[in-house]
Amino acid sequence: MINFLPLGGADEIGANCFYLNVFGTGNLLDCGIHPRKTGLDSLPGFGLIEDLPLDFVLISHAHQDHIGSLPFLVQKFPHVIIYSTTQTKEIAEATLHNAANILAQNPSLENDFKIYTHEEIDLLVRSIRGVNYNEVISIKGMRHTSSSGINVSFHDAGHILGSAGILLEHNNQKIFFSGDINFSDQSIMIGCDLKGIRNIDVLILESTYGSTDSKKLGTWSAETERLIKSANKVIHDGGSILIPVFALGKTQELLSLLHSQMIKRKLTETNIFTGGVGREISNIYDRNRYLTRRSSSDLLLKEIPQQNIFEIEDLTYFQKNPSIVLASSGMILEGTTSFKLLDFWMHQKNFAVFGVGYMDESTPGFRLMNSQKGDKIKLTVFSEPKKVNCSVERFYFPSHSIREDLIKVAKSVNPRKVILVHGDINSKDWLGHKILELYPHIKVASAETGKSFLL
Ligand SMILES: [Zn+2]
Ligand SMILES: [Zn+2]
Repeated sequence: MINFLPLGGADEIGANCFYLNVFGTGNLLDCGIHPRKTGLDSLPGFGLIEDLPLDFVLISHAHQDHIGSLPFLVQKFPHVIIYSTTQTKEIAEATLHNAANILAQNPSLENDFKIYTHEEIDLLVRSIRGVNYNEVISIKGMRHTSSSGINVSFHDAGHILGSAGILLEHNNQKIFFSGDINFSDQSIMIGCDLKGIRNIDVLILESTYGSTDSKKLGTWSAETERLIKSANKVIHDGGSILIPVFALGKTQELLSLLHSQMIKRKLTETNIFTGGVGREISNIYDRNRYLTRRSSSDLLLKEIPQQNIFEIEDLTYFQKNPSIVLASSGMILEGTTSFKLLDFWMHQKNFAVFGVGYMDESTPGFRLMNSQKGDKIKLTVFSEPKKVNCSVERFYFPSHSIREDLIKVAKSVNPRKVILVHGDINSKDWLGHKILELYPHIKVASAETGKSFLL
């Protein structure tokens, strides 16, 4: 008997966490934190599995919405055994320590929300069992009721370094969890590798771009050309450009893109700024360059000339020295470096902000991207309206599959049933209807947090 119970992230890009009980063995697929919520509200519903067996945690990749709650889970369930790819384990060390610093700066007042220490992170990371792509491990929980174990393998999802779709096989039953998956190539990462994953029983599929018209997203090469054209114009006018990026993934992809365009002499040579955990992660990309699939194994991110954003105290520097700043967070969340820089940027007429990645509707980044030069906008619910003096331009460099490619994922693994997760209701609606229309033999279900069903 296989039972599926979402604890979070079923119908939003939130605290992704899915409980899967396979013949008495309790597994969690991912253990994320909600990027926009705080305190207990940001965690998956761990209370839902308090009386259920939990033996293993399988992590698809190191983005916070997939791994950020792991330290909280381990406080509650210290005995769990955690598996991820070796690259995800390496990145987790950098990002969880960084998250601990951020949590310590904004302590929650809730008694039950106990933040974790750097020592706890060290112990946790040491306990993660790193596996290679396509390596098969066999797992069996304390209360496993079947004579055969569960075979688990991680398959390159093409989303960020270390990202994986997770295949679980028990007897003849196969379940494939896509994690965040990208079908097409980026600057560094190349599209997912689904070889050997066929005739799946259940596909648990992300739906991030399900409601987004792919024509709006363009292609990576067309968007590169558009970005370079706009960047050259801003730089020639003496302005600087802020590109809000996730520290993990988008920073490395954009750094590589800007550098390659400068080498080709398409982009005016200019200062590039990076900083913080994004730089640490770039080093992990470098260390793994011959161990993972990527477009150019010779590229070393640390050799790309770049300055440290945290060394600039007086932001008027950017008025005198046209620059491109890659700063996190990608959605310009309050309190982050990109949010602080934006305060200065918004006053500068010849400056620009380029949006490049996913932005949730309730974030300052989304509000900014939906404004124009001259508009007055409130970046947060409680902030005063401010005039946007700089120019604002939206580009799309998706690290998730466009919706037609999500359908291709379903077609390629040929499942008996698809469960849609990690997307809003409109996204799941579009995908669900499309799959039913094209492949009527496939059953489609939409996951709901707290609602369990038998697979
Ligand atoms: Zn992700
Ligand atoms: Zn995600």
